[in-house]
Amino acid sequence: MLQYQALNEYRAMNYARKLRNMFMSNAQLDCSEIGDGNLNLVFRITDKSSGKSIILKQALPYARVVGESWPLTLERARIESQAYIIQQSICPGLVPIIYHYDSAMALTVMEDLSNHLNMRKGLVPRERYPHFACHIGTFLARTLYLTSDFAWPSQVKKEKVVQFSNPEMCKISENLIFTDPYFNSETNQFNPLLADKVVEIWENNQLKLEVAKLKEGSLTHAQALIHGDLHTGSIMVTKEDTKVIDPEFAFYGPIGFDIGAVIGNLLLSFASHEGHTPDSQERIEYQAYLLTMIEQIWTYFEKEFRDLWEKESKERMAVIPGYVDHYLLQMFEDTAGYAGCKMIRRIIGLSHVWDMESISDPSLRAKAEKLALSIGQKLVLERRQVHRINDITSRVRQIA
Ligand code: ADP
Ligand code: MG
Ligand code: MG
Ligand code: MG
Repeated sequence: MLQYQALNEYRAMNYARKLRNMFMSNAQLDCSEIGDGNLNLVFRITDKSSGKSIILKQALPYARVVGESWPLTLERARIESQAYIIQQSICPGLVPIIYHYDSAMALTVMEDLSNHLNMRKGLVPRERYPHFACHIGTFLARTLYLTSDFAWPSQVKKEKVVQFSNPEMCKISENLIFTDPYFNSETNQFNPLLADKVVEIWENNQLKLEVAKLKEGSLTHAQALIHGDLHTGSIMVTKEDTKVIDPEFAFYGPIGFDIGAVIGNLLLSFASHEGHTPDSQERIEYQAYLLTMIEQIWTYFEKEFRDLWEKESKERMAVIPGYVDHYLLQMFEDTAGYAGCKMIRRIIGLSHVWDMESISDPSLRAKAEKLALSIGQKLVLERRQVHRINDITSRVRQIA
């Protein structure tokens, strides 16, 4: 077995050349490192004559953004490849095709999605994605329902919980999403113009108590195999197509964590247009478009989830009247809470989002960031009062 070795472009090309059934032995290959994430290397290898291309994603034994001083498990590459394989079987077409996984090299070989755009980048210039709500609603319902206790025998599900325990990656999320932003932590990084707002959050015990409860849910509520990092930077889109990438944070957690990630990140985009779109008519129209998209995502999700519950459930108790409604309501409250947490951490904590970072004027950025903080806090604090998706979008409309 090969020993682990971090690749560079030259080594990645040689590695690709040796893969079976990929390229002709005399192919003229080209390679570039295209990763823009925080943690890993991503290489694109192209055959210059046929145009055929593949992606190699390799985990480094440390976090790329910080360097070797922050060691990180290579196990995440196994988690990622196994999560991809499950998602592929449940949601074919909504994740890249996985060709090969090399455990010694912590490396996955997959379909090249270079004709897609990272969704976060598309939302800044106000692109519209007419099929996105349907695609992501389907992805969420199918991956979350079909990995839950309702669809897998409980013994199988418990084995999967162990297989995906992912403790190091979970610890990162626990700290960066739920803990560090609520204290004066070293990892925090925020726009100095927000200092007053941030101190208010640090002193808001009611808010922190609610965040502590949500954190406990993420620690203990092993409902389904969640993606664990489902922000708009983990979604590649065209006008026609949607692919979810980067499931290295996958673990058994609360369903609302993934749905909340999608909604919270669309609301970060919503807030960012305070900075990106000075024309008020244009801004209002695009923000309204994003809120409609959020409403459609939940609607598609709920319809598909209810269908699966009715048709696929292996759990005898599932037929009890009122059970599915109860389950969905709990999940909806979680969704609102996790959406709020994810918004707040991207403004105060480590690792910001392009939506905000691409607003160059700090005072304009502060305006957008303050709106994101207000929405985020409201979602956390009022999550028990929201019962349907319009209760969320109407609150956002009131604040904005
Ligand atoms: P990280 O875990 O480091 O965040 P990602 O899996 O999110 O890595 O990939 C980082 C970037 O690499 C993505 O934003 C995207 O631009 C590019 N990328 C990743 N996978 C693919 C793919 N299959 N096809 C094309 N580009 C990809
Ligand atoms: Mg990523
Ligand atoms: Mg689309
Ligand atoms: Mg990642």
